[in-house]
Amino acid sequence: MRDRLLAQLGPRDRSSFLLATVIVALLAGCGDLTGRPPNVVLYVIDTLRADGLGAYGGAKATTPHIDEFARQGVVFEQVWASSSWTRASMASILTGRHPWNHATAGRADRLPEDLTTLAAIFSERGYATALVSANPNVGSVFGFDRTFDATFELFTRSQPGVVRGSELVATSEQVGGDAIGWIEAAPRPFLLVVLSIDPHSPYTPPRRFDPALERPGTRVTGLPASINRKDLSQRDKARIRELYRAEITYNDHSFGAVLKALDEQGLRNDTLVILTSDHGEEFWEHGRRGHGRALTEELLRVPLAIRHPMNPRVPAGGRIVHPGQSVDILPTILDLVRVPVPDGVDGRSLLGTPRTPDEPLLAGLELDGIEMLTARDSRWKLVWDVRQSQLQLYDLQTDPGERTAVDVTRDPLARAAQQRLRDALETDIREGRQRRPERSQAGPLPQNVEESLRALGYIE
Ligand SMILES: [Zn+2]
Repeated sequence: MRDRLLAQLGPRDRSSFLLATVIVALLAGCGDLTGRPPNVVLYVIDTLRADGLGAYGGAKATTPHIDEFARQGVVFEQVWASSSWTRASMASILTGRHPWNHATAGRADRLPEDLTTLAAIFSERGYATALVSANPNVGSVFGFDRTFDATFELFTRSQPGVVRGSELVATSEQVGGDAIGWIEAAPRPFLLVVLSIDPHSPYTPPRRFDPALERPGTRVTGLPASINRKDLSQRDKARIRELYRAEITYNDHSFGAVLKALDEQGLRNDTLVILTSDHGEEFWEHGRRGHGRALTEELLRVPLAIRHPMNPRVPAGGRIVHPGQSVDILPTILDLVRVPVPDGVDGRSLLGTPRTPDEPLLAGLELDGIEMLTARDSRWKLVWDVRQSQLQLYDLQTDPGERTAVDVTRDPLARAAQQRLRDALETDIREGRQRRPERSQAGPLPQNVEESLRALGYIE
């Protein structure tokens, strides 16, 4: 590749190309240009589908701040969430482990104390650490505050005492405000993890972010009474999707404010910023709306973009096409700051050697009586309903929408793929047994947590 490139260049181009190669190689050896450990901001937008962003080709997306941010760094085009609900997926992001290896997959599960987390790793290296979370699934009740110096739990958008049913979810503006406040006073270097929740239902964007182009002829709102109705028309559904996109636009605005605060503090060059999501959302593609009940592509395809202006390993305008998953985020961050990955991590740095076609991506869901596993390679996707003992194989090249399972009895190639993907899951689960922590359960829920979980649809 390099020789072919050199052959196409003139003598002058050739020497500057070689010089650039040497500089990049030298820089790669020492991390970034400053030699100082960078600050790290991991900003997670709950329930954000990859195609909810312009940077991922979202046709109707209005996300100028995120798109600009993505252009300033590297976009990972093919990233899969490790689960399709918040607590399990966030535990994967923060530990680098598959759901069956972090034991935080189910409704009552608490993050086990003996797991090494991203915050613990950075704390040990002298970082100040904070978590700002708008989702109680990632709060102190479920053990997520452990190993952070400071935890801000924002489970309501109103002042105490004036909370309405639709306002039990904090806005990204409030979340961003707390994040900015902490950054301004935090010792350096710092690690800040933000979980903001706007695109999560209920879909109630502020009016100024709602284009309302799909509103004429509908009477639906983004509240449960509308979005859970069984008799919605196509127009109603289009309007509900629009409300979801408007929430993303609102969060884009709030994320932009956090980036601006970094600029104003003179921290832009010294800060590694990672933007991702914990899972996507279904909008009736398979008959359902919401998440946490299946492992379809609408739920698993998430965005991931990384910006660090002083680090040549994440150059502006970079696009990485080889596949990755949420468990790779922790090792990728550690790779960028030159910190060794702890034992027991399932993921790997997305800036290292790409996976081979024989190393499938894995994800799982264990929630409310559902127990599902999935594995995919560049062509095939296996969905394994463990409770129902049902295996379904999809050919994503010819059927990216997972409409029709392949009849493996008629196709030897498909049959072999199914076996290979199933083996990969079984091997990973078997080998993980040795290092799996004990399951730990949360106690009774405080009232504000219970109310907030109910507003988010986690408690019926
Ligand atoms: Zn979530």
